Amino acid sequence: MRITSSLPQPSAVLRKMTIWVCRQIGVSSRKMRVRFARSRAHGGYTGRCYTHGRLSVRIGKAIAYPMESNRFGQSCVCQDDWDTIVLILAHEVAHYGDHRDGTSSNERSAEWQSVKVLSVWQQERYMLLAQWLIEAVAKCKKPTRTTPQDRRAEKATKMLTAWQRKAKLAATKIKKYKRQVAYYEKVLAARRA
Ligand SMILES: [Zn+2]
Repeated sequence: MRITSSLPQPSAVLRKMTIWVCRQIGVSSRKMRVRFARSRAHGGYTGRCYTHGRLSVRIGKAIAYPMESNRFGQSCVCQDDWDTIVLILAHEVAHYGDHRDGTSSNERSAEWQSVKVLSVWQQERYMLLAQWLIEAVAKCKKPTRTTPQDRRAEKATKMLTAWQRKAKLAATKIKKYKRQVAYYEKVLAARRA
């Protein structure tokens, strides 16, 4: 899965959210490529599901919350950008899942699935967000400071490994050609005899 984002929400969290949404819909996130970006309409949002698992989720800079959505008899209320992102993402993932199953996808089906995912999300969002943020923070722990000496030591270890590998390869080649030389010496000696 590949995530690209120009949204202020942490990409690590958007990644975990995508995996979570895919699990809710029941599709694999492995080959998915999702682009999160700003919508040109400040108060609006758009989503797209292209071929080969390419999805696009765009949300406006200033959506008026609470934002009600009522399509195909499915109503829901988004309270903030997180809710909106989940709703759009789930809708597009639903299209992706329908296409992959070989069934024709339609707006009604995608909308029903996404509203269902949003309702699960709204019950669990604080727990999920907390968990994802903690994991994201743990992952970007500051690396320990390295000195030039540390780097030289690391380089020496790397070079030693590389040359040891070459020595091993050389030993194998020497064995092989020694065998060939011995063979030809024998063959040529027999021919001369
Ligand atoms: Zn749609």
